[in-house]
Amino acid sequence: MMVMYTHFADLDSRLIVLSCIEDANTLTCVVTVVSKTGRCPHCHSTTSQRHSAYMRVIDDLPIQGRRVQLYLKARKWFCSNALCATKVFTERFDWLVPYGQRTIRLDEALRTIAFSSSCVQGATVTRQLGMPVSHDTLLRLIHKTEMPVSQSPFCGH
Ligand SMILES: [Zn+2]
Repeated sequence: MMVMYTHFADLDSRLIVLSCIEDANTLTCVVTVVSKTGRCPHCHSTTSQRHSAYMRVIDDLPIQGRRVQLYLKARKWFCSNALCATKVFTERFDWLVPYGQRTIRLDEALRTIAFSSSCVQGATVTRQLGMPVSHDTLLRLIHKTEMPVSQSPFCGH
């Protein structure tokens, strides 16, 4: 499935697809990023001392209407800087919503839907497009979006 590799390369050119399972509605892929070193988010020093690996479950944009779920094998590293307060840190990805379970590009698509229809209708649309979320999730996205007061959908209610 050629489109799949482009899909992930657009997300992060370092991503490697380890395995994929597909059914009629969902494409589930185990992916990882090959990196020999990690960079401490606090002191910014580079380390090659691996601590462990863990799995993150991430929703991404659909492929041909099918929901895409990533099992991202990410790493933890030891900070090698003795003066740093951080001993162990986890790998960061700039294409993931911080502390979230979806890619930024999926988050943006969901926000667009949230702002263009009622959240109940929007939830139906997300199901049809292969990126199912509840209307509560769409509401939360609206509340989390920073915007000038004059443009707020809650203004005047
Ligand atoms: Zn550090």
